[in-house]
Amino acid sequence: MDKTMQTDRAAIGQRLRSLRRDREWSLDRLAAEAGVSKAMLGQIERGESMPTVSTLWKVAGALRAPLSHFLASTTLPATVSPREWLHDSAGMAVQPLFAFDPTLGFEMFVIDLQPGGMSESAPHTAGVIEHVVVVEGEMALFIEGEWQTLAAGEGRRFAADQPHAYRNDGLRSARFHDLIHYPGPNR
Ligand code: MN
Repeated sequence: MDKTMQTDRAAIGQRLRSLRRDREWSLDRLAAEAGVSKAMLGQIERGESMPTVSTLWKVAGALRAPLSHFLASTTLPATVSPREWLHDSAGMAVQPLFAFDPTLGFEMFVIDLQPGGMSESAPHTAGVIEHVVVVEGEMALFIEGEWQTLAAGEGRRFAADQPHAYRNDGLRSARFHDLIHYPGPNR
């Protein structure tokens, strides 16, 4: 594992621990709210384990925090620069483009889906809106109870406090940008 990954892993753990303590939550409470084992949460907080994207989404959702809170710095001016991808067993990889900014109320990611990859997103906090734009390949997006196919250059804005999912039925990887807007006032 290279140095960048170690730094990221340690930073994720520290941010998680400090946010959990801000909320005055025990590891037991976070485990129950997020549906992630207490042992795993302890490993993440100590920087011993790199969480998968889906684990981090669960934890962020339980703490009502944007995902990028754990991944990226929020300094201005903000620049997009290559970072480590956060991988998932389901064939998805995520990288923050712009970290969450409380004034602007959004965070933005680039997400890669491998052929056959599928990611189901649990509903976000009430009022959260996602903007998905495909930049490479083709992907299927599940919103409002049905699947629709988006080609490169196509996008959708949808209510992300409802069940939604992404799937790659194609033969090559799909890449999309995901801008997630959180309604104000934000923390
Ligand atoms: Mn989502």
